[in-house]
Parts: sequence; structure tokens; C-alpha cells
Amino acid sequence: MRSFIPIGTCREPASASTTSWPKVVLVNGGAGFLGSHLCEGLLDRGHQVICLDNFYTGRRINIEHLLQNTRFRLLEHDVRQPYDIEASLIFNFASPASPPDYQRDPVGTLLTNVLGAVNTLDAARRIGATAVQSSTSEVYGDPHENPQRETYFGNVNPIGPRGCYDEGKRSAETLFFDYHRKYGVDIKVGRIFNTYGPRMRLDDGRVVSNFIVQALSNADITIYGDGRQTRSFCYVDDLVDGFLRFADAGESCIGPINLGNPAEITVGDLAEIVIDLTNSRSRIIYLPALTDDPRQRRPDITRAREELNWWPSTELKTGLKRTIAYFDALLAEKQVAEAV
Ligand code: NAD
Ligand code: UDP
Repeated sequence: MRSFIPIGTCREPASASTTSWPKVVLVNGGAGFLGSHLCEGLLDRGHQVICLDNFYTGRRINIEHLLQNTRFRLLEHDVRQPYDIEASLIFNFASPASPPDYQRDPVGTLLTNVLGAVNTLDAARRIGATAVQSSTSEVYGDPHENPQRETYFGNVNPIGPRGCYDEGKRSAETLFFDYHRKYGVDIKVGRIFNTYGPRMRLDDGRVVSNFIVQALSNADITIYGDGRQTRSFCYVDDLVDGFLRFADAGESCIGPINLGNPAEITVGDLAEIVIDLTNSRSRIIYLPALTDDPRQRRPDITRAREELNWWPSTELKTGLKRTIAYFDALLAEKQVAEAV
């Protein structure tokens, strides 16, 4: 822990080197989609990893293959409760992320983000660890600025169905920066834009998993609204690489920093690409638009380029093909299990 450093500036350029990396890393939400890939990335770099999760949306299968590794440990715990774990780096990824998941228990979602941040920061303060927060493009809400730069304050409806997640994440950012200013805790805040890839759940409810599962099953592809809303999709390996570089960057590199792929696409075009890549017979149907669904979303990643020397390298079609192969195998396994 050290004194306050101005927000959003790096004293020295970040590199992908791992020499200065800590040995024990705690990953809250480590059994989830992104968290499990992050655990793998950290183990690959030789670190000890403690995965903390309450399995609200995470699954044991995501980390089963890591349990044999002597440098990996699983701890079942809810981040809403305080914890005391010796680590020099804490990634706080614990929160449901898919709209149906976070809206199923809105109060729980808000508290997971607020109390999870407080407990993470208290632990970091006690043990002198760096706390890395997985924030989100949802802090920009339904943006009036496109692409979104980190300086944009956002347009969020605090009382709508997305508020529990958006305001929870915004409050968490506030807590991170206040603990930094007030108590000198080392922090890093990364704002993740829509990320996809293997280990998303079949019933996750997010657009990439929904469209792929629907296409592979030749079921109707469900577009909410007119399909002209946009998103920018980042492949999971790129995102993990970005977070590892961020954690490895100097202590003055605290963010907030956008991590995502700036290639913007409409939801309607995404549906066409998925149908094409899967040779599906699915037809597209249009359902009512979701309340407060952002009309556009695209990260400005200038800061990540300059401070982390990072940008995504996986083309959408390449990432989608890998994700399709994963879901194809998962559906085949499910069919076999149901037939037995
Ligand atoms: P996920 O739902 O697969 O993973 C979340 C993990 O957190 C799960 O393992 C879940 O069991 C765990 N968790 C939830 N509540 C918890 C609690 N109270 N205590 C302990 N563990 C808890 O989602 P994901 O896509 O892997 O997202 C991971 C993080 O990244 C989240 O914080 C999310 O807000 C953030 N994020 C993800 C995206 C994305 O596109 N995937 C975008 C923006 C932000
Ligand atoms: N969406 C859709 N059909 C689906 C799932 C999602 O049209 O089956 C739309 C959704 O309305 C939103 C976009 O796809 O405009 C991205 O939704 P997702 O839940 O993946 O992420 P988020 O809204 O959090 O960006």
C-alpha cells in the first residue's frame, strides 16, 4: 500500500513480462467463465492460485482439471462475507454477469458487488495486496457517446432492471478509488466489454451463447428488439491477456481502463454470421426489446494500447468458430447423457 497516485496514468510502460509477479493470487469468481480462464493463465505463468467461489453461476467442471495441480486450491466462499486469505494479488471477478443471471436475484447481485468490493479491499488493505476489479462497460449504461472512453460518466437508469448490476459495479468502482485515495490500497479497475468463448453455459442467456445454441439446434434465433443495437465482442483469450498485462503493469497504472474488442457489430448481423458458420436451418424471430437495453456499445481502447501495449487479436469469426466447436461438443454430451 502506498500514497495516492493520480488516476489513469502509468509512470512506466507496461510489458507482458512476469518477473515482478506475485506468487499467490486469489481469484474471486474463479469457477466462472472468465475466472476459470484467468486461473489457467495464472497457473501457466507459474503462480499459486486460490479460486474462491460460491457457485452461484460458476461450475465445478470449469476448474475440475485444475484440482490436480498442487499450485491450485479451491475455496467455497461467498464474497459478501469477509475473508482473510494471504495473497499478494486479488482479482475480484465474483458477480453474475449475464442479464438473466443478475436479474434473477437483483438484491443479491447489488450486494455481491458492493460487499464483495468492500471485503476484497479490506482484505487487500490488511495483507498489502493489489486488488484488481472486473468492472464492466455497463457503467456507461445506454451511452450517448460512441465509442466509449474511460472519461465518459455514462447514462445509467438506477431504478431499472439493469440497475442492480450497473449501480453495483459503479459503486464498486467508487469503493476501489476511495480505498485507494483514503487508505492507499493498490488497485486496478478494468472495464470489460462483451466477452465470449468456451465455458459459457448453455443456458447462460447472453447473446453469443443463445444464438450458437439455437443455431446448432436449428431452433428459432431470438432477437430482442429490431436487432440494430450494437455490441463489440472480445474473445476470452484476448481479455485474459489484457488483464494479465494490467496486473503486471506498474503500481501507478490503476485505470479505469477499457478492455474489449472495438470491432462493433449489430445483433442482427451477429445472428446472420452464426447461422452461416453453423450451416443452420434456424430462422430469425423478433421478440420485444429489453428494458434499458443499450443501443450501442464499443470500447475506445486507446488507453489500453498506450498503457498496456494491448489490443485484441482474435477476429470475430475465428473466436466464434472455437466457441461453436465447444457448444457442439457440449450439446453432443448432453444428448448422450439424456439417452442413457
Ligand atoms: P460468470 O457468471 O461465469 O462468473 C461469475 C463467477 O462469480 C461465478 O463463478 C459465480 O459463481 C461467482 N459468484 C457470483 N456471486 C458470488 C458471490 N457472492 N461469492 C462468490 N462467488 C460469486 O460470469 P463471467 O462472464 O465470467 O464474469 C466474471 C466477471 O467479469 C464478473 O464480475 C462480471 O461482472 C465481469 N464482466 C464480464 C463480462 C463478460 O462479457 N463476460 C463483461 C463485463 C464484466
Ligand atoms: N440479445 C438478443 N437475443 C438473445 C440474447 C440477447 O437479441 O437471445 C441481445 C440483447 O438484447 C442485447 C445484446 O443481444 O442487445 C447483448 O446481450 P447480452 O445479454 O449478451 O449482453 P449485454 O446486454 O449485457 O451486453
